[in-house]
Amino acid sequence: MFVLHPQDLGIILTYRCHSRCQHCLYNCGPGWGKEAMSPQQLRQALEQVLVWPQTPQVHLTGGEPFLHFPLLLEGTRMAAGLSIPVYVETSGSWCTDEGEAVERFVALREAGLQAVLVSCSPFHAERIPPARTVRAIRAALHVFGPRRVTVYLSQFLDLIQQFSAGDLGRPIPLSRYEEELGPARAAQVLWEGYGLISGGRAGYRLGHLTARHPAAAFSRATCAGELLYAQHSHFDLDGNFIPAFCGGLTVGSWRDLSRLLDDFQEDRYPPLIAALIEGGPYRLYELARERYGYESRPEGYAGKCHLCVDVRRRLAEADDFVELRPREFYHHF
Ligand code: SF4
Ligand code: SF4
Repeated sequence: MFVLHPQDLGIILTYRCHSRCQHCLYNCGPGWGKEAMSPQQLRQALEQVLVWPQTPQVHLTGGEPFLHFPLLLEGTRMAAGLSIPVYVETSGSWCTDEGEAVERFVALREAGLQAVLVSCSPFHAERIPPARTVRAIRAALHVFGPRRVTVYLSQFLDLIQQFSAGDLGRPIPLSRYEEELGPARAAQVLWEGYGLISGGRAGYRLGHLTARHPAAAFSRATCAGELLYAQHSHFDLDGNFIPAFCGGLTVGSWRDLSRLLDDFQEDRYPPLIAALIEGGPYRLYELARERYGYESRPEGYAGKCHLCVDVRRRLAEADDFVELRPREFYHHF
């Protein structure tokens, strides 16, 4: 198996997003400083994708990529011109007018877009009026047909409609699931039903939906699989190669991907990445405790990624570690 060879590579055009969801692994939201990649940077990122001997499929994402529709359209054309299979990932938060949505999807299809993924969950529906998500799905289906539209996760569509009290025009508070289903069942439906990962904001905001454990419970967890062999990874607008779903963590710069791949092939890793590969977040925890005065969270952690993120927050506060990028991630919990 090749190291650092995802089959599905997301290009984060922007960290900006209307939504600021509680489960977001990349801490996206409206408050990020830099708006978006330039078209030149996007071309460079797409050209780097061709360094891999087997070209991964690419998804253009964010944040919310439709906030920068001209860039999304141009990126789609560039990817198609380079024969890179490309799809887009959106929450539909922009979708207030179905006619405009159809026009945008037609323009993207004509530019070479192959498919659309629409995110749909109670966490999105808490921020985005579900009517917008439903509209985006309908418009995408109209233009691309059912085989080229994925609703992630489609089982939540019914649930959201059921809990909307007949008003899809308003976001649905998460508390409504608890009121209707009771705390235990709601926790199961929300945390396990979605398969939440405890990184980003999720461990802090939603950790009460699952069992929390002390740091020592993760002492044997390693991250070699996620950091070396992830099937799904991202390039962001600042040059960061973000492995798996590890928001706020970079294995290096995608701008010189060949060198990065050579380094990893020869087991040369940045120090914090080496620590995570060998000893998982507990290794970072020991480092942060011994050298930087990190103190455990008394209520425990919702998963190994929650521990990792919490320890990284302390490290990012204490020093300028090159692996802890983008820096802004650490300001948007
Ligand atoms: S999960 Fe998606 S929609 Fe929600 S804040 Fe993150 S990028 Fe935005
Ligand atoms: S513990 Fe950290 S390095 Fe490991 S998978 Fe989670 S976020 Fe990534």
